[in-house]
Amino acid sequence: MMGDRDYRQLIKNAIESIGRDIEPKIDPKDNKTIHIHEVVRCLRRSYYDRTDPIDSQWTSFNNLMTGLLQKMEYGGKEGEFQIEDIILKGKADMIVDDAIIIFRSTLEVPENPFSSDLLFLNACMWIFKKVEGVIVYMTSDGKESSFSLSKDNKMFEEVVRRVRVLKDLLVEQKVPILEPSNECSSCQYYERCFIKQKIGKQINIQDLFGLGKSSEKN
Ligand code: SF4
Repeated sequence: MMGDRDYRQLIKNAIESIGRDIEPKIDPKDNKTIHIHEVVRCLRRSYYDRTDPIDSQWTSFNNLMTGLLQKMEYGGKEGEFQIEDIILKGKADMIVDDAIIIFRSTLEVPENPFSSDLLFLNACMWIFKKVEGVIVYMTSDGKESSFSLSKDNKMFEEVVRRVRVLKDLLVEQKVPILEPSNECSSCQYYERCFIKQKIGKQINIQDLFGLGKSSEKN
């Protein structure tokens, strides 16, 4: 805090507003328009975001960086891909010549790209009719690692399958199954998925192993 102003809060608000600005505008009642980011992560999380949302915090460097890049000259536009009666929508961070580029911030540069990022990048290639893609991982201390990917049919089939599943579950108002992963630890629905009720009674180790009974006999 400097003077009367809370600069930390000011910066947090600015990042949150950029995050909200780049967040795809989803109409929760429009079950026939699905966004790529909804299907490359846990479907249950995406379902809750539409039907009974809890706000998540927009504080990551990733949102700031992606938001600023999308506003630049090379910033990606939103595109669409028709899957029968469903529209799949997506936004690339940058489109340069025949390549899609997406940027992700990480604590450490990964040895391999994350599967959700591969699915996202590949789906962007189908939407924007490009054949090459690059994922750039960046850390806050300036390390960087890039992975390239060629357009892949099998990976896109998986995205299309998940698009259909999410649309059907939204129409039928059925909550998708749990998809436990590392994502759960930072998910705003963690308690809904894993902590139904608190265990009030303490477990007595002696009762558990019958130790109390045997000592009574002795
Ligand atoms: S806690 Fe895990 S399984 Fe539950 S909605 Fe979040 S990411 Fe999905």
